Formats: sequence, structure tokens, C-alpha cells
Amino acid sequence: MLSKKENEYLIEQITRLKQEKKAVILAHNYQRPEVLDIADIQGDSLELSRAAAKTEARVIVFCGVRFMAETASILCPDKVVLLPRADAACPLANHITVSQLNDLRQKYPQAVIVCYVNSSAEVKAASDICCTSANAIRVVNSLNGTKQVVMLPDQNLALHVAAHTDKEIIAWEGGCPAHCQLQAEEVRQMKAAYPRAKFMAHPECDQKVLELADCVTSTSGMLRYVDQSGAEEFIVGTEEGMIHVLQVAFPEKKFYHFPRPMICQDMKKITLASIVESLTKMQHVVSVPDEIRKPALECLSRMMKLG
Ligand code: SF4
Repeated sequence: MLSKKENEYLIEQITRLKQEKKAVILAHNYQRPEVLDIADIQGDSLELSRAAAKTEARVIVFCGVRFMAETASILCPDKVVLLPRADAACPLANHITVSQLNDLRQKYPQAVIVCYVNSSAEVKAASDICCTSANAIRVVNSLNGTKQVVMLPDQNLALHVAAHTDKEIIAWEGGCPAHCQLQAEEVRQMKAAYPRAKFMAHPECDQKVLELADCVTSTSGMLRYVDQSGAEEFIVGTEEGMIHVLQVAFPEKKFYHFPRPMICQDMKKITLASIVESLTKMQHVVSVPDEIRKPALECLSRMMKLG
């Protein structure tokens, strides 16, 4: 852990480098608190990419994992997208390859293939339409004339959608390690300890966990739910970084996380020091080659047109 003085020094460096390089810093809600605090924009992966597309900045420092930086590069190919740690990957996104996706297409020729935004650029390019945890149900139900849908790579999200659609959902068996670890028994214990608290769960959690939730939603949905809810206390069923985001947004409310914290190790790889290094050396540039970028952009655009 760095001292206050060391932190302040790094923040000064980041402020100077940002001006010098005309850069903007985007941070996903699961980043370390000190990274979230210095970010120009915080949010979920799609909110950040949309923000990236609108920014005047020449350089985007994406504090997140690789598929998010790829999405920013797909949406704004004229900008330099930096991922401060080259090894910040998403195990869920890496759970399916294009060759496995092509096997699914052969096996289910009538099905529409919906990929979660947590997927590689190559997988997006080979899919029909993208979805996020916030709009997955809406995306699937918008597929008029389609009876069968393959959803990948997150099985829990697919099962959650299956409960809210008449379409047949074929789920790929991938999962997020941080969200899959949460057990229903841990939720019951927290509810007993904080009986007035509302339980919010991310759809990447197990179905038995989701059954106990007052609200199943994305991280951006959690912010809206807390804002609109009359409740004062909340149990937060997603990666622990979200507690900081919620606590800063609603200082008068209480947020509880689980004794066995849900931590995404890859998100936590990025530190203030790695951001300084990234901007100084202009590393690690993430760019998607045109032959992948164009079909991946179509896949994302079909979703974005739904609003
Ligand atoms: S929290 Fe899970 S889905 Fe999100 S980046 Fe980490 S491993 Fe991937």
C-alpha cells in the first residue's frame, strides 16, 4: 500500500501526462478506489465505450480489461486506446473461441447468436448481435421472427434471460469467477444480519442467488435502483469495487459486501503507477484490425440502435 505522499505524487504525474498527451481516463466500476477517483469518466463497459466515442481526447486510457479496450477501439478507431496492463484479461470473455462459436452456428443453423459485450472482438465479429447485462432481455425480445437464440459466453446471464422470454435459449457454459463464487447461503446469512437491506444482484450470479434478489441488474442499474429506492441499506451482489462507486454516489446510504469478497483479480491489476507508466511509454496500445473491426462494429451497432 502506498503512502498518501506517494499517491499524491502519482496523481500529479497523471494530471501532467493527461494534458501533455491529450488523454482521457476511463475507469470501469470494478477498478481500485484510487483509480476510480482519478478517472474522468466511470461506468460500466458500454457506458465507457460510448463516452470514449464522444470524447475530443486523442488518447483513451482504458482502466478495465482487454475486451473493454477493444470495444473502445472498435467504436473509435481514430483514437489511441491504451490498456495500462497488457495482461488484464477477462476469464469469462476468454471462455469461448471463434471456432467454438462456428460449431454452434453449424449445430443451430436457425438460431440468432447473441454475444455478451464481455467477449473478444473476434467473437463479436462472428456473432449476430451484442448485448450487455443491462439490455440482454430487451435485445433477445427484439429479435422478431426468431424462435431460437444462442447466448454466449455467460451461462447465468443466458438463464436469467430465458426466464424472461418465450424464445428457446441455448446457453454457452461460461461464467465469471468473481460472480459465480457467491453462494445462496452467503446471501441468506447477509439478509439475516441486515434485515432492512435490499439485495441487488448482478445477472452473472448463480440462479439460486438471483432468486433471493430484490433487484437483478447491471452496475449502472444498481446506481439507478439505489437512487429510486426508498431503502437506506443495500447488500451488493457484484464485484466489490462497486461498493466504492455506490458509497461516493450515495454517502448517506449504507452498502454491505460479503465476508468472502467478490474480487476480479484482473480488474485490480491496474494501479496509479501502471497508469503513469502507460501514459509515459504510450503502452499497451489496443487496436482491432479492420477485417475484425468492421463486422464487430456491425454487431455492436445492431444493439446500440435499440437505444
Ligand atoms: S468481473 Fe468477471 S466478467 Fe467482469 S471482467 Fe472480471 S472476470 Fe470478467
